[in-house]
Amino acid sequence: MEISGKTKVCALIGDPVEHSLSPTMHNAAFKHLGLDYVYLAFRVRKEELRNAIDGIRALKIHGLNVTKPLKVDVTALLDDLDESALEIGAVNTILRRGDKLIGYNTDGVGALEALREAGVHLQGIKAVILGAGGAARAVAFATAPKVKELVILNRTITKAESLSRDLKHRLGVDVRFGGLSEVEKEEELKDANLLINATSIGMKPNEDLSPVSPNLLRPDLTVFDLVYNPIETRLLKEARRVGAKVVDGLSMLLFQGAASFSIWTGREPPLEVMRKALKSALEERSSG
Ligand code: NAP
Repeated sequence: MEISGKTKVCALIGDPVEHSLSPTMHNAAFKHLGLDYVYLAFRVRKEELRNAIDGIRALKIHGLNVTKPLKVDVTALLDDLDESALEIGAVNTILRRGDKLIGYNTDGVGALEALREAGVHLQGIKAVILGAGGAARAVAFATAPKVKELVILNRTITKAESLSRDLKHRLGVDVRFGGLSEVEKEEELKDANLLINATSIGMKPNEDLSPVSPNLLRPDLTVFDLVYNPIETRLLKEARRVGAKVVDGLSMLLFQGAASFSIWTGREPPLEVMRKALKSALEERSSG
């Protein structure tokens, strides 16, 4: 990839960003398609966000991904928000169009694509989402209009309640909510078809933890874990062991990235190139 005076710059902003897989995934895709783009990562602390956005405007950075802890705060600094970002109240992708910065959220579409690729049908099913943070909000807004019944369980119950209220207000959908106690998980999972872990439980360095005890897993329950580091979490291992269908977080990471790529370039993303880049980066990391 030759950098020139015309190279378009895309970047990730957040804190931390050093371990992000997005530069590897997007640079592999730009290179594969011969696009004159480069993807970098900038560590931006919360208190520096306003200056960073001013700098992005001045430097005419073409596209951005936004990660923790900036996804919500950045919404107030942009010129326009796409419907996806408005609903969720958080932005993970920015496109510069002329002098305007437009915010999008591709996490929801990433989750839907990951489920579609795995052959999971949402119509007529009961889904249970664990978590009510940024990722859970995106997944809840994407799945709520499609499933028959949705339940949100979260450690901080007020956050689950406010997500349920927002879903009712924006989509007109009734979504039950509760805490993350063993009793609530048992009660809600016994007749569920799809379990989605959108908490960070099971993520490295706590990969020996699972949000759900194995006795609540069944062969006819599909288990989708958003955690992608490790790719096969303890929850997914235990689900596979009982014969359940599993969907890993790597596929969502791929599809949310692919959607951002399309927004910036207007091109069809080279999915297999991006998937391979992600997998080898993760494997290299876990062996290193
Ligand atoms: P977040 O906004 O910080 O939310 C974290 C969620 O996890 C909250 O619901 C929090 O509950 C819960 N949680 C954390 N530690 C917990 C614990 N010890 N016990 C019970 N609940 C706990 O983070 P996020 O952005 O939503 O990300 C959540 C996970 O999804 C992360 O692992 C992230 O890597 C993953 N993710 C994956 C993708 C993908 O493309 N695959 C995309 C986005 C995120 P409280 O509300 O009670 O604090």
